[in-house]
Amino acid sequence: MKKIFPYQQIGIIGGGQLGRMMCIAAKAMGYRVAVLDPTPNCPCGQVADVEITAEYNDLSAIKKLAEISDVITYEFENIDIDALSWLKENAYLPQGSEVLKITRHRYLEKSTISAMDIPVADFARAKRGVGTGDMCPLRHIPSQPDTVCGADFARAKRGVGTGDMCSPRHIPSQPDTAYAPVFREIPLENMTVPCVIKTTTGGYDGKGQIVLRSEADMPAARELAAAHECIVEKFMPFSKEISVIVARSTTGEVSTFPVAENIHVNNILHQSIVPARISPELEREAIECAKKIAANLGAVGVIGIEMFVVDDKIVVNELAPRPHNSGHYTIDACVTSQFEQHVRAICGLPLGDPSLHTPAVMVNILGDHLNCTDLSDLAPYLPLLPNGKLHLYGKAEGKTGRKMGHISMLGDVEETLAAVGATGIWT
Ligand code: AMP
Repeated sequence: MKKIFPYQQIGIIGGGQLGRMMCIAAKAMGYRVAVLDPTPNCPCGQVADVEITAEYNDLSAIKKLAEISDVITYEFENIDIDALSWLKENAYLPQGSEVLKITRHRYLEKSTISAMDIPVADFARAKRGVGTGDMCPLRHIPSQPDTVCGADFARAKRGVGTGDMCSPRHIPSQPDTAYAPVFREIPLENMTVPCVIKTTTGGYDGKGQIVLRSEADMPAARELAAAHECIVEKFMPFSKEISVIVARSTTGEVSTFPVAENIHVNNILHQSIVPARISPELEREAIECAKKIAANLGAVGVIGIEMFVVDDKIVVNELAPRPHNSGHYTIDACVTSQFEQHVRAICGLPLGDPSLHTPAVMVNILGDHLNCTDLSDLAPYLPLLPNGKLHLYGKAEGKTGRKMGHISMLGDVEETLAAVGATGIWT
């Protein structure tokens, strides 16, 4: 397997904060970095050796990146399909395209995980009926005998004039791709509540999803399903959200970071607490689950795996085939960071030690918290968080929901949580 050594150049598609932190790790290891991003002076461009400013679907820019790079990686999953095909044939893209194709489509992702005997929330493809009205109340997803781990899945149907909306049924259709099992579809009206409707592609940080709790939520759900292909998932009454960052190198070596306990606010990650406050058994289950997913996918690089804890069991929510926000704590609290691990993995180097050397609380700084383009808003708070390692991403403008930076606080978790609360920044 090819090895990429320091002083060779790594090409990154996407120049946001993940690209920036990947670049900083790569530069520390002696690599050169080129980045492609549509925004001039993007967060990664500020620290990279070469910045190519172009749209992601600009094939000539992709070719230019490939020409000057010894290896190509990415910081986000929605890479242009043509660019991906070209890269697969003409460049060194050790992560390949298969895992991306699966993880960018929620239905494929859930069915793939489910086929590994790993529990996911019951899911179905949302049927897009026209003129169906409120023919019957929302109700349960019917079970299928051929489902895996009790998961019941189908893709919501984009149908017109579907008569018998009240009879729960699944309508098998042809798989869209080689990865798809048979898509099964179900009318929204037949879903049990609470449930969550999500666009199959393009959603992040809660965008493109609606929780259905009653008939009152149906118009918005129908609107979403009319505009996009969607899946509907059973609402998981989780006691905690956790995640595991797993790395698999081109040599097949697999390594996991400690489990993070994640707290979301408005569907955006707010805090990661490490070690997660879960039982050792659950921790083991989460780690085994992550290793199994990485190995079965034959993935290369770092994958962030988000999970729910439901009735003291793990239910996998989604995968991100790249470093993940919930792994930012690794920069300051682990021997090797998720970004260094990713670089090692794609370059064919031995993976580093992922051990936690200090407990940590990572808190995201969003545009709605502070004007973090400079330190002026933040400076008065820093003395209150003396154990905080500050990371700002160099974004030009702070907007609501925009991730501007994060702070990883090292030391006793409960004391840190109290100190974070006392600053009042995040309340
Ligand atoms: P996602 O885009 O799938 O990562 O969802 C964003 C957040 O929405 C998750 O971190 C959960 O807090 C919540 N969420 C997503 N799916 C479900 C579900 N099936 N049941 C309960 N909460 C969910």
